[in-house]
Amino acid sequence: AQARLAQAQRMEALGQLAGGIAHDFNNVLQAVGGGAKLIEDSADNPSRVLRIAGMVREAAGRGSAVTRRLLAFSRRADLRAEPLDVRDLLESMQEVLAHTLGGGIRVKLEVEAGLPQMLADKGQLETVLVNLATNARDALSGQGTIELSAAAALIAGEGARRRPQLQPGAYVRMSVRDAGVGIPPEVLAHVSEPFFTTKPRGKGTGLGLAMARGFAEQSGGALAVESELGRGTTVSIWLPAAEEDLRKPHRSIADVPVPAQ
Ligand code: ADP
Repeated sequence: AQARLAQAQRMEALGQLAGGIAHDFNNVLQAVGGGAKLIEDSADNPSRVLRIAGMVREAAGRGSAVTRRLLAFSRRADLRAEPLDVRDLLESMQEVLAHTLGGGIRVKLEVEAGLPQMLADKGQLETVLVNLATNARDALSGQGTIELSAAAALIAGEGARRRPQLQPGAYVRMSVRDAGVGIPPEVLAHVSEPFFTTKPRGKGTGLGLAMARGFAEQSGGALAVESELGRGTTVSIWLPAAEEDLRKPHRSIADVPVPAQ
């Protein structure tokens, strides 16, 4: 219970960090945009243009600092992949989510029997699953069932053509499914871009899916979002299955082949 509390606090801290980054970045963009507008209005005043250009350059410098903070916290070197039992992980997530998502949400598990272990950073994966489940909760307006499922996925032949972002091989696919509001096609194309959000100010950071995708790709896997307006959304993450020769605990993810972009 203590470990779960620590995990929940860590997630809260991550959420606050992400919120802070979004806020800081927004301020930088406003300074750059406002500066550009002032320059446009000052075409006949070269010394004023130069002064404002200096301000814009400083704002861009602050933007770089924000980006460095973001990169530092999602650094590839921070990922510590270890072989994980999918059922154990999802069962403990089910319990964590029951506490964090609120009383109106039921979390249902659907885990295929005989799954291979998967190779991933446990803490980061848990954070990602909490983010996905929180999105599902929001899509359900806090009332309904979220399904967490896991199945083995062998990427070869036809499957490899359908999932070009994955190298051929054995994976575990985990999905978070909701029968919530769904996502219109023109929005779906952008959902995993950093800072993209449709939520009201102060509610969404637009980093949840971007971080989830970054995590999946850096782990040698992939992320996909499928959705139908009015019917619901399924977010799937493929992570490499731990093979015999990979079953060394705390193997660095940098050693794991990552698919070409
Ligand atoms: P945030 O949740 O902070 O907005 P995300 O990157 O997690 O950031 O999500 C980006 C956007 O994708 C959301 O604002 C929402 O429009 C859409 N989205 C994500 N997950 C779902 C879902 N399960 N159902 C409906 N829309 C979703």
